Amino acid sequence: MTKMDYDLVIIGAGPAGLTAGIYAARARMNVLLLEKAVPGGQIIVTDWIENYPGFEGISGFDLAEKMKNQAEKLGLEIETAEVHSLNLSKDVKEIVLKDRKITAKSLIIASGASPRSLGVGEEKFIGKGVSSCATCDAAFFKEKTVVAVGGGDTAVQEAIFLTKFAKKVYLIHRRDELRAAKILQERAFKNDKLEIIWDSVVTGLSGFFGVENVMIKNVKTNEEKTLKADGCFIWVGILPNTSFLNDAVKTDEFGFILTDTKMQTSVPGVFAVGDVRDTPLRQISTAVGDAAIAAVSTEHFIENL
Ligand SMILES: Cc1cc2nc3c(=O)[nH]c(=O)nc-3n(C[C@H](O)[C@H](O)[C@H](O)COP(=O)(O)OP(=O)(O)OC[C@H]3O[C@@H](n4cnc5c(N)ncnc54)[C@H](O)[C@@H]3O)c2cc1C
Repeated sequence: MTKMDYDLVIIGAGPAGLTAGIYAARARMNVLLLEKAVPGGQIIVTDWIENYPGFEGISGFDLAEKMKNQAEKLGLEIETAEVHSLNLSKDVKEIVLKDRKITAKSLIIASGASPRSLGVGEEKFIGKGVSSCATCDAAFFKEKTVVAVGGGDTAVQEAIFLTKFAKKVYLIHRRDELRAAKILQERAFKNDKLEIIWDSVVTGLSGFFGVENVMIKNVKTNEEKTLKADGCFIWVGILPNTSFLNDAVKTDEFGFILTDTKMQTSVPGVFAVGDVRDTPLRQISTAVGDAAIAAVSTEHFIENL
């Protein structure tokens, strides 16, 4: 067989990639983890996590540090580099970086997902009132009025977090009930600073230096309204981070990677885990579970080469 640089290359150092790295390092595989930004992935921007077993509550930043330190102590090599494209065959997985190509016997794609945009031109207000990261930006809105958009766990949890800083938070949700966990809903309904505006969508933003107005429309009555607000936090779903993929493996209609129960994609020896995968739930616990399965599947794949 051709000599490869690595047994396994992992793309992405979120909870999924770091867990795959922990398992692979313990299995004494020759493994490299590539991360384009900071190890931790989405949990870096998560204020408080209280549904990951073993921690009654922990900041996303601290959990990310713990996962990274554990992986490195076990000997995992983490390199800061962005994967630009892949050339995949059964025998050789070629990972293309800006300045070089790496070869591996197997590959785990753990590149995660990023927030979906509203599509109302909010891009021009990013950094000027529009954000998807309350942990990063809530402090800029002390005693101000902000709009939060969405109805899932992330939106409700982050809207509650915003009330620690803002004097008023409007939560705009397109349906007449929230999708978030009941415990989060109870907290939201009890919070005096949080007002939920049901059956409504954001139709536009305006302002001179930054966000000043958020325009909303009731989808049942078509009534339009303008809310005076200094910021707009958006949590309306996520898109997979797969720009480097170029159809190299099969995906669903939204671009999330299809896998079997061993996390193998349509290409033998290429596995996908965590938020980038077509999965019914995107959480830390599901990401780390996927990753443990994929790492063991990788070992079996290599043994049988
Ligand atoms: C605000 C917020 C709050 C949340 N709260 C919770 C919570 O309380 N509990 C919970 O269980 N879950 C929570 N989640 C969801 C949880 O964070 C995700 O399910 C989890 O992070 C998914 O892990 P992952 O490793 O699959 O992907 P990610 O965390 O998205 O990590 C993917 C990594 O891959 C890297 N990457 C992407 N493309 C490339 C490339 N081309 N080359 C190299 N590296 C690349 C990215 O930089 C990133 O570091 C929250 C998410 C958000 C945004």
